[in-house]
Amino acid sequence: NPSRRPLIAGNWKMFHGGRKGVELAQECATFAGGLPGVDIVVAPPFTALAAVASVLEGSPVGLAAQNVYPKDEGAFTGEISPPMLKECGCSWVIVGHSERREHFGERNTFVAEKVAATLQAGLLPIVCVGESLAQRQANETLLIVKQQVDAFLDILAQSKAAVAIAYEPVWAIGTGKVAGPAEAEEVHAAIRTWLSTRDEGLAARTRILYGGSVKPDNAAALLACPNVDGALVGGASLDAGSFSAIARAA
Ligand code: PEP
Repeated sequence: NPSRRPLIAGNWKMFHGGRKGVELAQECATFAGGLPGVDIVVAPPFTALAAVASVLEGSPVGLAAQNVYPKDEGAFTGEISPPMLKECGCSWVIVGHSERREHFGERNTFVAEKVAATLQAGLLPIVCVGESLAQRQANETLLIVKQQVDAFLDILAQSKAAVAIAYEPVWAIGTGKVAGPAEAEEVHAAIRTWLSTRDEGLAARTRILYGGSVKPDNAAALLACPNVDGALVGGASLDAGSFSAIARAA
């Protein structure tokens, strides 16, 4: 879809929090300059955000945080607020990643609060949704993903921001098991329908990314699906060679 430029985002997880992150960001800035048709975003750990922001200044690569706390400031030891991320040079925030849902008990209501706080600060969320293996095997994929989307749908509809939703089946994250293009497209198309039922404009401007073991050799087939507008890449984003190959596939 021409109104939704491909978006390729790299989630570095808890890797490259210092000097290595700066080097990787430099390599991303270099290859992104040669790919004007694709939006590239990197999400380093908090400790590397400021240094990576300086490296990316003047480059087309966008900066994302991996998480955020939904208050502007206050007595919340160890947490980071949306305005702080904005001041640091971020334009994006990954919200509701399955690892946060699984290891840190983040529930749909809390994810929705984060989406609201992120938009309030003028940042764009990449909101993550996706079913577990047991849920897929029980044929509950669309039910679960719809519950996750419904939790933040009104918040997105009330904003005019061009946000991103990442469909990341939990069983495909970091496992090397990738959803087939047809499996991915089925869920992406369903998400698009739920968005358009709520607000046509929202459906038209929201980029729906696929995430879960995206690699250079499977990226093209996934990105060719009509409702796959990009990718959220974990492991393969830690290497500039594979990350740029995925971006070229878009
Ligand atoms: C992710 O962390 O969002 C992800 C999709 O990881 P991976 O590409 O390693 O499966």
